[in-house]
Amino acid sequence: MQDSAETKQRQRTINAARRCHECSEEALGRCPDCQHSLCQDHFPKQQHLPCAEKQMKIAQTQVCYVCSAQVYPDQWSNSRTSHFIDQYRCKGCGRYVCDELHTQRKIDDVFIVREGLRGHRYQYTTRYCDICSPIYRSGGLKGVARWLVALGTVAVTTFFYLHH
Ligand SMILES: [Zn+2]
Ligand SMILES: [Zn+2]
Ligand SMILES: [Zn+2]
Ligand SMILES: [Zn+2]
Repeated sequence: MQDSAETKQRQRTINAARRCHECSEEALGRCPDCQHSLCQDHFPKQQHLPCAEKQMKIAQTQVCYVCSAQVYPDQWSNSRTSHFIDQYRCKGCGRYVCDELHTQRKIDDVFIVREGLRGHRYQYTTRYCDICSPIYRSGGLKGVARWLVALGTVAVTTFFYLHH
């Protein structure tokens, strides 16, 4: 349990702009789709509008393009400053790919974004399908350049290579 005096103190010091889009908690992360600031509970797409509605509408079309297995794009925060985003899409061709069979290469792109006094860590799971995997380098670099523009401040980018 949190110490309530500490919590009150904290809430007083948060200005309105730093509050969660869905509740009055302090916003911790920013949704990459709708750009709303959200708390840890509301960061997953199913937990905030309009992303939850959009997610429901397109759920049926979110299937691996090779084997038609349904995929479940997800995003979550595992601490106040560390956020994970996995869209289950091949970065090369933009199509959905399942994790077990048709993700040929998986790369974690890590971005540190400064917000106020804190550094937020966003980890994107970047996937490549069988076809796109051999050319992932150009796709990967293009992807990084896009995020540089989108996020503004980027301090660290690391790659991990996982073979399936
Ligand atoms: Zn919230
Ligand atoms: Zn959103
Ligand atoms: Zn598949
Ligand atoms: Zn692909």
